[in-house]
Amino acid sequence: MNPELLPIIQLGNPTLRQKAAWVENIHDATIQQLIDDLIATVAKANGVGIASPQVAQSYRLFIVASRPNPRYPHAPEMEPTAMINPKIVGNSTDIVKGWEGCLSVPGIRGLVPRYQAIEVEYTDRYGNLQKQTLTDFVARIFQHEFDHLDGVLFIDRVESNLNIITEEEYQKLVVKDTK
Ligand code: ZN
Repeated sequence: MNPELLPIIQLGNPTLRQKAAWVENIHDATIQQLIDDLIATVAKANGVGIASPQVAQSYRLFIVASRPNPRYPHAPEMEPTAMINPKIVGNSTDIVKGWEGCLSVPGIRGLVPRYQAIEVEYTDRYGNLQKQTLTDFVARIFQHEFDHLDGVLFIDRVESNLNIITEEEYQKLVVKDTK
């Protein structure tokens, strides 16, 4: 079936606060269709990642799809990748702060501390176990999406309300950075 754009649920919807379920059968047609739908949905929304709970499907599965777009002009380019039943198996001692947003928390950005590098394991959409070291922005996306699987949102991780700003003010910061 052709990919379908799925509605993204927003802050306040209780599904965003649930612990998501392990994916038992990656080859199941509904899971494969969900992966295609998530990839189409995140591209359309100018996101760099989306987790299955954000479309009200509470599975341990997310897409990392970093690419430059109006919401993240400096994002590195990569193939959209489905990461299923992911784990963080190691992390750097280095912690870095960066601005994050979320398709489920529209209009808001927060300065969030994350590990600079992480070692991860996940199963890909073909059922193969993958082990990777992720750094910088892609490591940040992984940690943000991974949190979604446990019902945690980026606003839970900002150290102070002073580190929450609007999308409009964030866009001014990004423009300033490139000058
Ligand atoms: Zn999010």
